Amino acid sequence: MTQALETLKSNALKMLKKYFGYDQFRPMQLEVIEQVMQKKDVVLIMPTGGGKSICFQIPALLFDGIAIVVSPLIALMQDQVQGLRNNGVEAAFLNSSQNNSEEEQILKSILAGKIKLVYVSPEKLLTQNFYHFIKTLKISLFAIDEAHCISQWGHDFRPEYTKLKVLKEFFPETPIIALTATADKLTRDEIAENLMLKTPEKFIASFDRPNLSLEVRQGLDKYNQIVEFIEKRPGESGIIYCLSRKSTEELVAKLKKSGIKSVFYHAGMNSEERKQAQNKFTTDKVKIICATIAFGMGIDKSNVRWVIHNNMPKNIESFYQEIGRSGRDGVKADTLLFYSIRDVMTYRKFFEISPRKEIEETKLQRMLEYAEGVTCRRRILLAYFGEYLENDCNNCDVCKNPPKNFDGTQIAQKALSAMMRLQEKVGMNMLINVLRGSASREILENNYHTIKTYGAGKDISFQNWQQYILQMLNQGLIEIAYNKANTLQVTDFGKKVLYEKKQVKLVHFSEVEVQQEKVVQKKLSPKEEMNMELFTLLTQKRMELAEKENIAPYLVFSDASLNEMIEKLPIDSQDFKEIQGISLEKLKKYGLDFSHVIGSFLEDKLSKKKNIVGATYKLTLFLYRVKKLNIEQIMQRRKLGALTIVGHLSDWYEKGKAIDIENFITTTELELISNAINELLPDEEISLKNLYLKLEEKVDFEKIKWGIAHYNRNKNAEN
Ligand code: ADP
Ligand code: ZN
Repeated sequence: MTQALETLKSNALKMLKKYFGYDQFRPMQLEVIEQVMQKKDVVLIMPTGGGKSICFQIPALLFDGIAIVVSPLIALMQDQVQGLRNNGVEAAFLNSSQNNSEEEQILKSILAGKIKLVYVSPEKLLTQNFYHFIKTLKISLFAIDEAHCISQWGHDFRPEYTKLKVLKEFFPETPIIALTATADKLTRDEIAENLMLKTPEKFIASFDRPNLSLEVRQGLDKYNQIVEFIEKRPGESGIIYCLSRKSTEELVAKLKKSGIKSVFYHAGMNSEERKQAQNKFTTDKVKIICATIAFGMGIDKSNVRWVIHNNMPKNIESFYQEIGRSGRDGVKADTLLFYSIRDVMTYRKFFEISPRKEIEETKLQRMLEYAEGVTCRRRILLAYFGEYLENDCNNCDVCKNPPKNFDGTQIAQKALSAMMRLQEKVGMNMLINVLRGSASREILENNYHTIKTYGAGKDISFQNWQQYILQMLNQGLIEIAYNKANTLQVTDFGKKVLYEKKQVKLVHFSEVEVQQEKVVQKKLSPKEEMNMELFTLLTQKRMELAEKENIAPYLVFSDASLNEMIEKLPIDSQDFKEIQGISLEKLKKYGLDFSHVIGSFLEDKLSKKKNIVGATYKLTLFLYRVKKLNIEQIMQRRKLGALTIVGHLSDWYEKGKAIDIENFITTTELELISNAINELLPDEEISLKNLYLKLEEKVDFEKIKWGIAHYNRNKNAEN
């Protein structure tokens, strides 16, 4: 690495720590920053939650002048700007939601050189006035967020974005960084072209999101499954995606009856209603949102812990984007997809009138293959995006519960034979009912009970039949005649199975699986219980602080930071600095509040004789450093002897904590003890007793403790 790059890297790292509280870059971030800092254009493709923002925010901080960030959504701008400000970065946004005086205020601070990043909508950026305004500024870079909006191929084309091509012409020297999470190759290619970028470097990050668990279940009795899923995750925030507007509202009402609070969100609501629903969700006032796909773009909430698809999305891109809204903070999140053949039929009906029918059908097919998959689901997903995983992921239902193949020829033959005997005139449900020998009126009226295979599949449950028939569909034994009331037809391949005894392999996902999960629902260990309790206390504090400032709780601290606090139990600012995601600004603003939560928690637990590793030392540190008590006060409060408390504090001192040792011992005394230690024989341990004797019983134990700590601290510093 050249000297210049070395310096750049170290400066970038400093910024990362100071303003974002992280010790390390994620894959690709530094590479992108290096390019931008060399004033080169960049296209960055990274999945949601991958950490795109930092790739232009850090160059903006390192460069002189102001960075202009183009963003299509007002909500997104506000969120990002609030987040930046909360980290002590001077940022602002300009959009149609502001009045003239607000805008003037911002323009003034920009002119005064106070703002490092300004977020604008594309419409705004391209007005004459604004253009003339920014022409007078020193612009460090342009960042085009959600850059896929420029592509006609994309799913989110915005005509205003196409006008951005003039940027390169008007500001040929200024680097442009285009960012998107889109997976579509055509769209990706169009971005650089449409922005007229100059030999841009293209970065494509891995789309793997290992912290998201993947699970697919049959769409049967979905409601109860959803309730159970939610009840297992108390206090966690999640999204339930539904196909129709009506179903979002119905689900909210139903959940309410089960004692679960949620809000709905769909495009049929007016913008005020939508804003309110979104706000309740992002501020954690309501943990669950039932939404159509209208919800999501521009939602930066990092602590979404799960996503349920009540209905199957129509393609893998949408699916991946939607589940991608969970676990942005890198903490474990769960996703659950329900699928049923009914959803597939609904889509196919839509597609009938779509000009892009073929494309949509192909994409749906891939989605179905995923849902029906019997190999590691993450592999299937990533393969779709052109990535190949070396190993199975171990975090999907297939990996956790490998399905077993069996010879399903007989089962398939029963179904196919019944279909033929029913003259291919029935749909899936009727077929199953006939196979299971049910005596519905329709069956009797049509004389279906007289066919030979009536009741031939009694031993197989309705649900399992559904699975098998879906598998047969996917294997191409059967097809659905959409033009004939969705009746099932036997394909040529199916006929081979029926008449030529071609073998069929089926997979049995046992039905008991879901029930088993219930039984295994583990009891929390005492430690887990305490962690839960502390997590609740920390989130309460986070909520309280967020409400005071009128921002979303995750902008105070992410779940990842809270989890790390639970693990490390930070007490003083030295400790808090080590927690990832705590910028200098946040440390100043919130550190003390959280320290009090942790300190009081430890005090409570210790008074109840609970066992937490290191807690007693931490509590003493807390009382001394944070509560500012002296040793006598701590002794009283903790009902412990002086030597114990001094033992705790001197131990912290030895480990490098900022403790004023001169309050407890003089320099002369320290020297005395230090000399005594040096005079110990090689086989004599540096112990209280040995030193006490060496010092002729004239120096008390407490002082000797300090003396030893001081000696060791100096020795540690030397090494
Ligand atoms: P994207 O815009 O790609 O969806 P963000 O920029 O919002 O992603 O980042 C997602 C999350 O990852 C944020 O909570 C952010 O603070 C965090 N993050 C970004 N970079 C790092 C890093 N180097 N180390 C740890 N966390 C990071
Ligand atoms: Zn897997």
